[in-house]
Parts: sequence; structure tokens; C-alpha cells
Amino acid sequence: MNRNEILSWLRENDENRLEELWRRADAVRQQHVGDEVHLRGLVEFSNHCVRDCAYCGLRRSHHHLQRYRMSVEEILTCAREAVEFGYGTLVLQSGEDFGITTNWVSELIRTIKRETPLAVTLSLGERDEQELETWKEAGADRYLLRFETSNRALFDQIHPPRAGKISDRLALLKSLKRLGYETGSGVMIGIPGQTFESLADDLEWFQELDLDMIGVGPFLPHPDTPLGQQGIIMQAVPEEQVPNTESMTYKVIALARLLCPLANIPSTTALATLNQAQGRELGLMRGANIVMPNLTPTKYRAQYEIYPAKACINETAKECHACMKMRILSLGRRIGTGRGDSPNHQPVSILVTYQQNSMI
Ligand code: SAH
Repeated sequence: MNRNEILSWLRENDENRLEELWRRADAVRQQHVGDEVHLRGLVEFSNHCVRDCAYCGLRRSHHHLQRYRMSVEEILTCAREAVEFGYGTLVLQSGEDFGITTNWVSELIRTIKRETPLAVTLSLGERDEQELETWKEAGADRYLLRFETSNRALFDQIHPPRAGKISDRLALLKSLKRLGYETGSGVMIGIPGQTFESLADDLEWFQELDLDMIGVGPFLPHPDTPLGQQGIIMQAVPEEQVPNTESMTYKVIALARLLCPLANIPSTTALATLNQAQGRELGLMRGANIVMPNLTPTKYRAQYEIYPAKACINETAKECHACMKMRILSLGRRIGTGRGDSPNHQPVSILVTYQQNSMI
């Protein structure tokens, strides 16, 4: 698919013509990753954050937010629940919290690996390459780090760097690949200032980075953030501004599937927040093959408010599990078994052998 085709699908608003995009994405999904929908148990284990991102409710300057950090025992309870529910993966997500040390995370990974068969996905923001390597050695399997937008000027505006540091998520993603992580990234859709051209660039980056996992969702304004208070930081020409709509999100999911057929693509909570009744299902019918039921204890969920009115905020892990399962089965799809690794991912050892052979 060339750039003009990407752009013209992004700009397409005719529901009948869009049916063609949905059909193609669904066929490619079925052919390359099949009918299984893999479940990833999500644990939002800390909402402390050193960053001041203009879009995110966890930002440091959001002083009214009550902060929490879960204990190892609380996280292990979630891990056991994941096993009980038949999930293959535990996703550990947090703000960029340096109260969470390298050793603490390593020990946590080792304990989960010793006590359960779960794959472990980390999503802890921008951490040093040395730490990422240590966690890989401790047994972490995957890392999620969205680059949010590939428009450098827009990114710098909405995601100020830490003092004395450069925030280069594209470079970090390349490091994660090199370290052997199954690597995931993605963007928000409809950030004020995001144009169709820049969203087409983002999609091309998914391909260029050879991502194993791609997560996208609509930008949802949070009232306690600069971007949520109409403090538009960058402005696009109105007809070039990407809308933060449900339809736009499906287009990006479908195009991501066509460009990266082997990637694991979730139908995200942000999408379910826009359409609680059917968002998850429609995502799964238009290219996605993953869902991420929330295992975070209910008492913490409301405090992990990256955006408001997040779907499933009052549900228990058990309710979330039952609901997801029912939605998947209602589509005639199957619940994934095993870890659900991305078929796009090649373990480093295989790559090394391949490179050695190709040098001979
Ligand atoms: N601290 C980690 C995890 C952040 S939360 C990190 O920075 O990678 C995970 C994702 O939520 C972010 O990458 C971002 O894409 C999304 N997100 C944050 N605020 C949002 C908002 N207001 N609307 C929609 N998505 C948002």
C-alpha cells in the first residue's frame, strides 16, 4: 500500500467505501493471525510519574490526583488471577516512576516467571537502555512504548523531555528490538495539531520499525491537562486536523493491519470508552486480534485516570473477564490459548544464527 492510498483511506468518510477497508483488514487479520483473540491481563501498578505530558492525567503537575504504588504481593495476586482466568500474558504498566527501581522490577519479573507460566510485558515509559537490558535478562518478554506522534515538533510540545535528557522514543524502540524484546508501539489519534500527513507518517513508521505489537486509540481530552483545557499547543489547518473519533480509530487499526499483517493489535480501552456498547467488537472486526482485560484492583482504578470516563473503571477483574469473553465469543472468534506471541517476532538467537550464516 503506497502513501497516497494510506492518505486517501484516512480522508475517506463514505461509510460504503469504508466497508471495503474493514473487509480487507479483517481478511488479512484472519489470514495472518487467525481467529484467536488473545487476552492480556493489565495491571496498572503505579500512577506516580515524573513527566509532565500535556495529554495525560497522570502528569506530575496534576496535584489533586492521589498517587499509589502497588506492592509485590498485590501484583502477584493479579498474576495468579491472570492464570486462573486463562490469560497468557501479564502487562505491567505505570507512569514514569523512578521510585520503581531496576532491582525491584527485576525481582518482580523473576518471581512472576518462577511462579507462573505468564509472558511478561512491561510498559514503564522511557527507561535507560541498561535497565531495559537487565529486565530482559530477568525474563521480561515484551515492551510497550507508544511514540504518540512521529511529528517531532508536536511531540516535543506535548511531551516535554526530562531535564538534561532527550526524549527519543523511536531510538528507544530500535534498542528494544535489538535487545530481543517483542516490541510494541503506537499513537494517539486526533491530537490537536496532528495532520493527516503526519498520521500517514506514523503508519509508515509502524512498518519501518517492524513492530510486533501496535496499539492505537483516540486522544481523549482530560480536563486537568493543558491539552484538555483547550490549551491548543499547535494548530493544524482545520481541514488537515485529524479528528479524535471512533471512525478515525477504526481506519488506523485497519491500515495498521494491512501494513503490518503479523503484528498483534489490541482493540483498546480508549476505543471502548468512545463506544462502550460496541467499540471493542468493531475494533476486533476491523483488524484487531487482542484485548486487554483490566486486573488492577478496583480501589486503584479510578486513580489511574490517564483520560476521563475510562471504560470498565468500576468493574472487578472477574466482571471484566466475563464481559470480554462474552464479547469475543459473540463474534464467532475463539479465546487465544498460550502466550500469544507475535508471529512477527524472531528471537534474537535465531537472528544471530541467521546473520552468522549469511556472512559465511
Ligand atoms: N508511562 C507509560 C504508560 C503511559 S499510559 C508511557 O508513557 O509509555 C499508556 C498510553 O496511554 C500512552 O502511551 C498514551 O498513548 C495513552 N494516553 C495517555 N493520555 C491519553 C489521553 N488523554 N487520551 C488518550 N490516550 C492517552
